Amino acid sequence: MERLFAAGENEIREAYTTDVYFERTKKIISAKGLDGTEVWAEFTLGSLPNKWPWAVLCGTEEILRLAEGMDIDIFGVPEGTIFRSRSPKGIRVPLMNIRGRYAEFGEMETAMLGMLCHPSGVATASARVRCAAKDKKVMAFGNRRMHPAISGVLDRSAYIGGCDDVASKIGGDIIGREAVGTLPHALMLIMGSDEAAFKAFDETIERSVPRIVLVDTFSDEREASVNACNIIKDLKGVRLDTPSSRRGSMREIIQEVRWELDSKGFKDVEIIASGGLDETSIRELMGAGVSGFGVGTSISNAPTLDISMDLVCKNGVSISKKGKFGGRKYTYRCPRCLSMDVSLSDDDDVTCSCGSPMEIAEIPLMRAGKRVHRKDPSEIRDYVLAQLKQLGEL
Ligand SMILES: [Zn+2]
Repeated sequence: MERLFAAGENEIREAYTTDVYFERTKKIISAKGLDGTEVWAEFTLGSLPNKWPWAVLCGTEEILRLAEGMDIDIFGVPEGTIFRSRSPKGIRVPLMNIRGRYAEFGEMETAMLGMLCHPSGVATASARVRCAAKDKKVMAFGNRRMHPAISGVLDRSAYIGGCDDVASKIGGDIIGREAVGTLPHALMLIMGSDEAAFKAFDETIERSVPRIVLVDTFSDEREASVNACNIIKDLKGVRLDTPSSRRGSMREIIQEVRWELDSKGFKDVEIIASGGLDETSIRELMGAGVSGFGVGTSISNAPTLDISMDLVCKNGVSISKKGKFGGRKYTYRCPRCLSMDVSLSDDDDVTCSCGSPMEIAEIPLMRAGKRVHRKDPSEIRDYVLAQLKQLGEL
């Protein structure tokens, strides 16, 4: 078999995926005897896409796994931090700082940024969907829109942002939860009828898997839903993935199915909506009787964040390229309103515009190649949800 195009883990670690100019830089630095140059590298971004007022930082854990063993120190705001890109004075807020010899980690810039930029976009889109769906269940279904090599990354990011469950097996393993799913249209078509597919699913799949079936393949959603209730005794829910050509008002279809199920005594059977949903369409369906949403492309295809890595200190002296601010900086955050500010000192009296004293927001993540911080995805997700509540978004 010919090789697939996706890079393997070793190829990423060996900098095979890096932009070639970083490899050349390493060679030049070495040739000129500058291997010992000590730097501070700062990770910031200038602005957020889609006019988002805030974003969720995601991907730090993978950077720590990549950097383990390199002789560097890493400091940063914890993964899951909700941040704005700039301070009130317009200074870019450092999300992460690396100290070490440039030759030790410079070649990893491409990989490190990629591990932060796209996952943070996905986690942010997921958090926005979470806010729209409030206390309803949200399942991440978007892996099929992106390359399979990053399925685990996508699912982890979607979960951290606030999705309750993920669909891929690798994603389930990474977040420590069973992957979830209902039935694909393919099964309905292969089995030939809704009823045959419902029966086959119920007879074949282990009881621990919740019985949620698809009800939009052949017949009317209302009729198929009631059929499903009659065929599967412990039916957990029905999923409506009604094609856009048949939708009219999805809200009214759901209201009608809910009415029919309730009136036939199936009040506990949940309705799951899916198919092209995003934060706007989810808001439109709230209150119609939906218990949960399957959300795909709008999360996995989230805009990537334009985070960059810049050298801000060389051999103890502040430096920077044009357009950036030099010096090792510390990120402060207001514990009350979560605003952020920046200072050149880690012992500064920084006061928020809301009147509260700010606190240092960064923590040590790695010292001399050994990680000194670890949180599992559920803890990071809890942290995201707590901040969303604090901001009044949830
Ligand atoms: Zn404040």
